[in-house]
Amino acid sequence: YAKRTGGASHALFEERMVAGSRDQVELLQDLRRAVAHNELTLHYQPKIHAPSGQITGAEALMRWKHPQRGMVGPHIFIPLAERYGLINSLGNFLIEEVCRQIRAWRDNGLRMRVAINLSVHQLRQADLVERILDALERHHIDPALLTCEITESAAMDDTRVTLQVIERLSAIGVHLSIDDFGTGYSSLSYLRQLAAEELKIDRSFVFDLETSADARAIVDAVVKLAQALGLKVVAEGVETEQQQEILRQLGCNELQGYLFAKPMPPEALMLWAMNDEGPRALDFRPSLFGD
Ligand code: C2E
Ligand code: MG
Ligand code: MG
Ligand code: MG
Repeated sequence: YAKRTGGASHALFEERMVAGSRDQVELLQDLRRAVAHNELTLHYQPKIHAPSGQITGAEALMRWKHPQRGMVGPHIFIPLAERYGLINSLGNFLIEEVCRQIRAWRDNGLRMRVAINLSVHQLRQADLVERILDALERHHIDPALLTCEITESAAMDDTRVTLQVIERLSAIGVHLSIDDFGTGYSSLSYLRQLAAEELKIDRSFVFDLETSADARAIVDAVVKLAQALGLKVVAEGVETEQQQEILRQLGCNELQGYLFAKPMPPEALMLWAMNDEGPRALDFRPSLFGD
């Protein structure tokens, strides 16, 4: 995993993280400064319409350009931010930056739907919806262009604030997606009440598709459940042609993974979406229309 997210130096860095808590303290101090020093950035990974291969949108994934350590992945700094009360300032950066980017793409003729990840701590933040609404309005963005991905376990965190936040997000027209589905404990009746439009099957099931009949059965069941509830199903972590083939056969609506593209900077995504490097080079131009 470390290799995929940043090469050998990344693996080495992770070893040191485990080795010393002094390093962790240092990293925390650096993280406090990261927002103000513009060291956080967003990469975007395309989501693909399974039947046609066309891009349907992108997921924003946060990266930290650490001045000494290089690119640090979210699996290291998001838990740190959550533990030490920094997640909301990261979240505020995320909301602002995504809206700025959607607007910048829009001004360049690209109408891109973007999904952001929200942690359970952010959902408990009472003014989250106002912040999102404010950013959408300031940048003149249609709320339907924004999807909030909430992990299954966060969505099932049934505190009143979380439930209200999810409902209000949906009320302002933002889409909702249940991330890492299959790894939490869903109550099916609760799932039915949630105003979500999408389930994202966790990549651990996708990883096992080729070798495990159980994984295939689980994906099959999730697709059928989603269809019955009127939800769209996205598979994440698609890396091989064979996985793609199985997922299409099982009826997954959208696919996301290294097979199509890794998360990339916004300029690269724009080129990709406009088909310099994207799939099905010539039959895709839907994002070039204007309003
Ligand atoms: P996630 O939301 O489930 O995102 C999918 C992760 O899988 C991303 O890792 C993505 O780069 C990776 N991925 C995509 N395709 C493949 C593939 O084919 N193979 C493999 N092995 N991996 C693939 P990333 O970017 O390291 O993010 C990890 C997690 O960190 C995310 O999981 C999400 O939970 C969290 N995260 C990322 N950005 C943010 C953010 O802005 N805010 C919050 N709260 N959490 C974030
Ligand atoms: Mg996600
Ligand atoms: Mg996920
Ligand atoms: Mg995940």
